[in-house]
Amino acid sequence: MTRYLDGRVAIVTGSTSGMGIGMAEALSKAGARVVLNGFGDTDEIEALRARIAEEAGVEVAYDPADLMDPADVAGLVARTEARWGSVDILCNNAGIQHVALTEHFPVERWDAQIAILLSAPFHAIRAALPGMKARGWGRIVNTSSTSGLRGSAKKSAYSAAKHGIVGLTKAVALETAEDGITCNAICPGWVLTGMSRPQIEVRAQQAGVSYDEAMEQMANSHPTKKFVTKEQIGAVVAFLCTDAASQITGASIPIDAGLTAK
Ligand code: NAD
Repeated sequence: MTRYLDGRVAIVTGSTSGMGIGMAEALSKAGARVVLNGFGDTDEIEALRARIAEEAGVEVAYDPADLMDPADVAGLVARTEARWGSVDILCNNAGIQHVALTEHFPVERWDAQIAILLSAPFHAIRAALPGMKARGWGRIVNTSSTSGLRGSAKKSAYSAAKHGIVGLTKAVALETAEDGITCNAICPGWVLTGMSRPQIEVRAQQAGVSYDEAMEQMANSHPTKKFVTKEQIGAVVAFLCTDAASQITGASIPIDAGLTAK
């Protein structure tokens, strides 16, 4: 791979697990220095940081910002600018899930999902835009979902936040269209991660089938009958950071194995 992101600095939120790792791997292999973010075991995060840095031959850092806290989100951007001079690529990817009928949905879970999935991207974009505009270059990639393109029953907060991020993406894209900045959303289908695996367990229990059978059913909900992989997600995100993608902005791009074609 050519190192077309040499000299660029990327933040990937929620990159201690799942598809954020795929994004960090792809961006670092294209030459970007990457700040990882998310929760997890300290030793495992350090091993992940060191592995990605070694495989890509770039500096990789870790910032433990809690995206529930708006000041910490702004701090993540400020600390990255202080560390490496810029934030050129911002991937708003961290997420949590809660599945319940709306009338039983815990208010605290609603607030947390809106905070992490929708408000945190706003706070991060707000903090990163002045530097991107001053330098005349920026790439913002927001992780939405197929639930940002159509509703998902028992996921009212998730559907609301993921539709919301599509709107935020369009507004920011229009505001920055003449500034060398693009802002896009990706809308993945099922990817096997820390978020989807517990949902497979619940499906298995509810349907009285094994975990593997529930996993197969989930894959079969895709027209391709296959899961999307975190590597495929990372590759699309890295493509959105190329010059070839400079006219793609304000888009919500399904990476969903054909799901929303139905
Ligand atoms: P994951 O659970 O594997 O990873 C989530 C990441 O977010 C972790 O690194 C976690 O530590 C981090 N995180 C959670 N709360 C945080 C907080 N308060 N502050 C900082 N970091 C926090 O899940 P994933 O599937 O890789 O999810 C990544 C994104 O993809 C999410 O936005 C999710 O909604 C979206 N998505 C997932 C799927 C799927 O099938 N897995 C499909 C479509 C969209």
